[in-house]
Amino acid sequence: MPARILDGTKIAAAIRAEVAAEVKKMAAAGIHPGLAVVLVGHNPASEVYVRGKVKACEEVGIYSEQHAPAETATTADLLALIEDLNHREAIDGILVQLPLPPHVDSKKVLLAVDPAKDVDGFHPVNVGLLSTQRPGLVPCTPAGVMEILQRSNIPITGQEAVIVGRSDIVGKPVAMLLLNANATVTVGHSKTRDLPAVCRRADILVAAIGRVGMITRDFVKPGATVIDVGINKVTDPTEFQHLFAGNAKREETFRTKGSTMAGDVHPEVAEVAGALTPVPGGVGPLTIAMLMYNTVKAASMRRSIRVAELIRR
Ligand code: NAP
Repeated sequence: MPARILDGTKIAAAIRAEVAAEVKKMAAAGIHPGLAVVLVGHNPASEVYVRGKVKACEEVGIYSEQHAPAETATTADLLALIEDLNHREAIDGILVQLPLPPHVDSKKVLLAVDPAKDVDGFHPVNVGLLSTQRPGLVPCTPAGVMEILQRSNIPITGQEAVIVGRSDIVGKPVAMLLLNANATVTVGHSKTRDLPAVCRRADILVAAIGRVGMITRDFVKPGATVIDVGINKVTDPTEFQHLFAGNAKREETFRTKGSTMAGDVHPEVAEVAGALTPVPGGVGPLTIAMLMYNTVKAASMRRSIRVAELIRR
């Protein structure tokens, strides 16, 4: 039986509707959550992401402002901007769009963000809060992975979870969230011995690698839930054929656009997995939804409002 497809677009829409309702309630109490997005220079991909974030804010009623320092901005310029945003009452969340230009000390800039406004959840204070199971701001994509699992009623407690990838922004926080949710967690990476065998232990397999189609059916235990975090652009016709031969819709996209988006999980996995997130339309839409959620959560936490459904981690 083919895998159940876990529809991230639908889950993200539900979260955005919940956030919009919460924003309305807060507005009635005179509170207007605000997000500042900092985009340095001109990076076309980053500009697309930032436009998506600003549009999402408009849709859920969050105030947003965009700061666009020139490509030549120095570390000191950016630190001054962050300092200003840290002190602004109207701003609850600060998002510094990465990558920053190479001459900028990115770590220094990210560390300068007030942890209470760190809606990306990358600040070491928030990393520490997550690992000690205290309320804080959780990175958006990992939080989105958990929303998909929980809202799809995938059991987590006592399950074997394997995450492939150990980045600070995806792999490690996903591992921590699954551990906090009582899974038995293994993290695989490029030095892991016999990765397919390790992955076959998983009831929940999370791929956060950045290698198109790397997780083939040999990595997957029949019936496992597979979450594909990877976002890769496929432009090579041979690679395209290897992944999507016979998929008429994909072939049409590839013919007209010259590329298609693919995950780290090979489409053949749908024949063995019990449930699977598609790419596009799986984890991707959750990232912006969770950014909206985090902005409202930051606004609530900063004002010490207990909104039970917001602070459930
Ligand atoms: P990253 O920082 O490059 O980390 C990749 C991880 O994969 C590393 O831990 C690396 O191992 C591991 N890896 C690489 N090649 C491997 C191999 N052959 N075998 C086993 N492990 C291997 O990437 P990232 O930022 O975590 O992102 C991962 C993917 O998620 C990318 O496709 C990215 O575009 C996507 N992503 C999606 C979203 C979303 O909104 N859906 C958000 C963020 C990222 P080592 O540590 O040993 O090098």
